[in-house]
Amino acid sequence: MKKDGLLAYFKGQQVPLADAKVSVLTHAFLYGTAVFEGIRGYRSAAGGDVLIFRLREHYQRLERSCRILDMQPTHDVDSLCRLTVELVRANRFQEDIYIRPIAYKSAERIGVHLSEETEVVIVTVPFGKYLEDEKPISLGVSSWRRTEDNAIPGRAKVNGSYVNLALAASEARGAGFDEAILLNEDGHVSEAAGMNLFLVRDGRLITPGVSANLLEGVTRDSIRTLAVEELGVKVEERQVDRTELYVADEAFLVGTAAQVAPVGSIDRRVLGDGKPGPITARLKDLYGRVVRGQVSKYASWNTRVAG
Ligand code: PMP
Repeated sequence: MKKDGLLAYFKGQQVPLADAKVSVLTHAFLYGTAVFEGIRGYRSAAGGDVLIFRLREHYQRLERSCRILDMQPTHDVDSLCRLTVELVRANRFQEDIYIRPIAYKSAERIGVHLSEETEVVIVTVPFGKYLEDEKPISLGVSSWRRTEDNAIPGRAKVNGSYVNLALAASEARGAGFDEAILLNEDGHVSEAAGMNLFLVRDGRLITPGVSANLLEGVTRDSIRTLAVEELGVKVEERQVDRTELYVADEAFLVGTAAQVAPVGSIDRRVLGDGKPGPITARLKDLYGRVVRGQVSKYASWNTRVAG
């Protein structure tokens, strides 16, 4: 990843990324007390501009994450959107990018309780593919359970909670799978490590409901809208059994980084013929065009930063 010459927003101003540093005594470093977002910017299909995908929705979620962590946001959603656009413009990107805003507990002291001080940092970096290749991915059901809402809530994008997902993702790779699927303590399906899940059964989309300890994904919402509005496909949001994973006609993961990732097998049961199914393929293609500004009906999802 190229880091030289990049600017970050840190302590109220744009600074070289190399200078955006915090003390090892920072509360967020000691205890994981920070909330963050992952946002993508795409070079528009027409060239020149960067299109930031659903910028406002990401900052609205950051605000909700702050509320759950009882953090007083230092900036409102409008200011964060403006600061991000200014930062992307200042970095003069020629490629697809990833934006990582973090609101963190900045007090420098030992002691786990939360105090008032909060800072916001925004980092933007060039970003290509997240998953290794284009072939359908293999999933393994993790032995690690998704953290419960009353322990570390998945609804908030809290930095420290990613320990749960890191354990699951590493276990999956060690066992020869590409990605992990986490179950809740009650044995029902939650989400993947950094991605939400959709299944296709009998022409309908199925995705675990918001009470399944998952992050309420922006891509999940976008895909649901596109499926209903553009493909006329019904979407069921409900509890999903583990064994429904094995009997699905199609499955795919969605997330800002992974976009739409077709699943070829789950716990070594091959889905269909192991290739992306028809509904998955259509949604992947449509999503790819929407994020690059090629579908005018969804132009309001793209924040344009002139190149
Ligand atoms: N679940 C988790 C735990 C995630 O970290 C992410 C990535 N932000 C997602 C789901 C997908 O969310 P989004 O589509 O908003 O990127």
